[in-house]
Amino acid sequence: MDIPTFDLTGRTALVTGGSKGIGFGMAYALGAYGARVVITSRGEEEGWAAEEQLQEAGFDAAYLPCDVTKKEQIDGLVAETVARYGSIDILVNNAGMNIRKPLIEVEESDWDRVLSVNLKGIFLVGQAVAKQMMEQRYGKIINISSILGTIGMPYQTSYAASKGGINQLTKVWAEELAPYNITVNALGPAYIRTPMTEEWLNDPERYRQIINATMQKRVGELSDLSGPVVFLASDASSYVTGQILNIDGGWTAR
Ligand code: NDP
Repeated sequence: MDIPTFDLTGRTALVTGGSKGIGFGMAYALGAYGARVVITSRGEEEGWAAEEQLQEAGFDAAYLPCDVTKKEQIDGLVAETVARYGSIDILVNNAGMNIRKPLIEVEESDWDRVLSVNLKGIFLVGQAVAKQMMEQRYGKIINISSILGTIGMPYQTSYAASKGGINQLTKVWAEELAPYNITVNALGPAYIRTPMTEEWLNDPERYRQIINATMQKRVGELSDLSGPVVFLASDASSYVTGQILNIDGGWTAR
């Protein structure tokens, strides 16, 4: 019996929103398992610094700026990555943001912004990379959702809608792309310490509620996503597709 490996040597991974937070952590994990990593974001200074950190860790890493809401920039990113490295084997569709407000205070512009980055961005990048992966007849797409794609929570109208949408398109893409040897899965983290959640987690009362919602009584760290992303990016997950894997200390299992 051939035992599939977690080794990613020779694979090229594209990680959107890889300049910091969860995207950076996952790029680091993929690099540690041998992948060549291309990270993207809009804030170029942070992006170049992240590239340097990945290279200093000994990984083959490059930063390419790209706004995931802009189709022309995405097409340029995909073309440039393929021109440099020949393929895109792994996509971590991660760039995202949040605006937390009670329902009656959500502005139309808040809704449009969150949906544009979190849902339209995932769609545009996924579509452009899927075309390339279909030609290659190989690919691993990992969409970064949230437990809020599965459960509800106050003040998360736009964000939860976007993440629920990600879960659904993960299932649709999984079936459409299966004939091309492409798997499509989503990771649904609960609260992970990043620049996005730092302020939210600094409120002691809120922090207490959050950790008590988990079985493990703690928030997640970047390293908690390393194993799951490497698993879904590698041939170890060859018969896993269309799945939403929540990384949440047991939160959604109750
Ligand atoms: P951060 O705010 O720490 O990082 C977000 C990343 O996305 C940055 O690199 C940012 O760079 C990039 N980004 C934002 N908007 C765009 C855009 N329009 N185009 C390209 N890049 C963009 O967030 P997290 O690391 O916390 O979150 C990453 C993902 O994980 C998101 O999808 C989030 O919803 C999800 N998630 C996070 C959880 C958490 O607790 N932290 C829990 C569940 C899910 P720049 O702004 O410079 O473009």
